[in-house]
Amino acid sequence: MTQDTINEVLKFRDDRDWKQFHNPKDLAISISLEAAELLEVFQWSAEDVVCENKLNKIREELADVVNYCILMADACGLDLDEIVHEKVQLNNEKYPVEKAFGNKEKYTELKDK
Ligand SMILES: [Mg+2]
Repeated sequence: MTQDTINEVLKFRDDRDWKQFHNPKDLAISISLEAAELLEVFQWSAEDVVCENKLNKIREELADVVNYCILMADACGLDLDEIVHEKVQLNNEKYPVEKAFGNKEKYTELKDK
């Protein structure tokens, strides 16, 4: 995520004086609602997991999720690059390549090869 992108999202909020409404609870709710809208793109699609014909709607809803994530991080004083980096490091420990490569099991189910 570039700082320019983050600044653009925050400017959109600040130009409208909406920061006063952006508490962590309501932003968490908004992230979940937009994630549900992203999921709705696939509702009733049976086994159709190809997304090419849904890409415009996916772009829109994924952007909504990310925008709210940027606003949530700002409201909580968190650095998105830092928290994502930390999470990848944690996931590297939970899912070591030698155990998880080509394996979709949850980390608690991973076994030594
Ligand atoms: Mg939406």
